Amino acid sequence: MKIGFIGLGIMGKPMAKNLLKAGHEVVAYDVVKKNVDDVVAAGAAAAKSSADVAKRCRLVITMLPNSPHVKTVVCGEDGILAGAKEGDILIDMSSIAPGASQEICKACLEKGVKMIDAPVSGGEPKAIDGTISIMVGGDKAVFDEVYDILMCMGGSAVYCGKIGAGNTTKLANQVIVALNIAAVSEAFSLSTKAGVDPQKVFDAIKGGLAGSTVMNAKIPMILEQNFKPGFKVDLHIKDLNNALQTGHEVGAYLPLTASVMEILQNLHHEGHGQEDHAAIARYYEKVTGAKIQ
Ligand code: NAD
Repeated sequence: MKIGFIGLGIMGKPMAKNLLKAGHEVVAYDVVKKNVDDVVAAGAAAAKSSADVAKRCRLVITMLPNSPHVKTVVCGEDGILAGAKEGDILIDMSSIAPGASQEICKACLEKGVKMIDAPVSGGEPKAIDGTISIMVGGDKAVFDEVYDILMCMGGSAVYCGKIGAGNTTKLANQVIVALNIAAVSEAFSLSTKAGVDPQKVFDAIKGGLAGSTVMNAKIPMILEQNFKPGFKVDLHIKDLNNALQTGHEVGAYLPLTASVMEILQNLHHEGHGQEDHAAIARYYEKVTGAKIQ
């Protein structure tokens, strides 16, 4: 099938390449030309704009930073809806506010375009090996229609409910990940400051109840002081903003999320916004004066 792909960053690039590997044609667009060139080198065709992608494909996937980017790419001048035809499908795989997914879906339906929200979890390594977890909201019939295409990029694709439910699920995921990294960083700053080798602490506890996928992924990075992203601090600020805003809208209270948000804001203002979210450990290192390594 010919599939349009818009947003070829850390995640979008390997996801588009996995569609090519599965035998699909890909028509690619990104505002950064180098990102398009990389995917073209792997066999994709380049498009001139988001509207051009939509003119050339009945199915378009977007993988963009946040709600305003998706609104521009879908509804803006030279956007997807300027080129789409009735019956076309949009799969937005970006992590955005659930309310924004609902607004964008409404604009799509007015043009006869079907949209589902399908954000992902797993990060760059899982995007590369095609095993990301995909959480989907929208019309179940559309989910069933595109399931095989989602599974070219993911290890699982779970239907969560009406439009926006994918992004609500993703917000829950992001709250858990942020709080988990903060818990791990806080605990390891305690044991380090008290004089116990953090590698020994990791080896001793990773198989017990405190062990987690987050600890296994992030402690080796923290021990090496390797904060190359991965998932950037600034993107996690975006997700926690969306979580806090959604929580306020629906009457869910997120005091722990609000605390971790303050740590992320500190990191952003100290110039660590483009680092991996494992840099939450840096905050604790700064306040204790002890490096976890
Ligand atoms: P990224 O910043 O690396 O990539 C975003 C891409 O969108 C960039 O190439 C950018 O040039 C492009 N873009 C921005 N505005 C555009 C526009 N108007 N038209 C066309 N292209 C445009 O971000 P990423 O890490 O790939 O993340 C993408 C989404 O996936 C985000 O919502 C993020 O929260 C989510 N996500 C990321 C990870 C991760 O580990 N990086 C994991 C899961 C989910």
